Amino acid sequence: MLKMMLKTIVNFGLYSTLVRFFWGLKTTYLRRSKRYFQIEVHITEHCNLKCRGCSHFSPLADEVILAPESFEHDCARLAKITTKLVTIKLLGGEPLLHPQLAGFFEIARKYFKTTVIQLTTNGILLSRQPDSFWTACHKYKIYVEISDYPVNIDVKAISAKCKKYRVCVGYTVSKENGMNKMAMDLEGAQDPEINFALCGLGYSGGCVTLRDGKIYVCPTAGHIQFFNKYFNKDLRITEKDYIDIYKIKNKNEILDFLHKPFPFCRYCKPSASLNGLSWEVSRKKVSEWT
Ligand code: SF4
Repeated sequence: MLKMMLKTIVNFGLYSTLVRFFWGLKTTYLRRSKRYFQIEVHITEHCNLKCRGCSHFSPLADEVILAPESFEHDCARLAKITTKLVTIKLLGGEPLLHPQLAGFFEIARKYFKTTVIQLTTNGILLSRQPDSFWTACHKYKIYVEISDYPVNIDVKAISAKCKKYRVCVGYTVSKENGMNKMAMDLEGAQDPEINFALCGLGYSGGCVTLRDGKIYVCPTAGHIQFFNKYFNKDLRITEKDYIDIYKIKNKNEILDFLHKPFPFCRYCKPSASLNGLSWEVSRKKVSEWT
């Protein structure tokens, strides 16, 4: 955390760092209060980096982008349930590969006036974004978070833009030796309750995923279709593994769902999961996820 803050101060200034720090504290507190939740949305499935063992399965995904109309439909519905989302994270895949990116900023801010809206990127394409991107980030109050992979990005150019357009930019913790492997059991023979308690995602609420009008506790459940398709597997998602925002009446139904194990958790294998791995490009081997 301290390293990330220092790196953000050095590269993007004190203002970005303080904003990130206080947002971080506030959003973590709100999520853990279990009275609020945040969502992540893939606006692209594919990525220009393709990290080994990506928990969003982006190295395995086809080149698919989310239609802004679909995002607006889900935002409009969600806003009828609650406008008090803690954070909306726009990510992927690599979101800067989406040709209509600024449209997503506008839609998210239209429905969620006070929510922290974050763009999570690997940063590779950030220095090449046109001025209209930075103008939109400023106008719609978008926080840009760079996942700190060991790749060359033009920090000087990004820093100049962030200061010129008064956009907050920051780093997540270093991924150089900070990659995780969330191992899966292809037979689904694990205990869902134990897994849910061990993985911690239900407790932290940090990776809640909205996809096609359905909310999942984690990206593993939300995006497993890419793993299934690429490796010809059938890790099954049922109606008990998500909550459909078009079939519920209020926010409490979502909150209840987010804090309980669900059948798909039987496919996780925390005993085989690893932390602190060095970063590598994916070779698309099933062993990266098992
Ligand atoms: S499927 Fe369940 S156990 Fe596995 S990562 Fe998601 S919440 Fe955790």
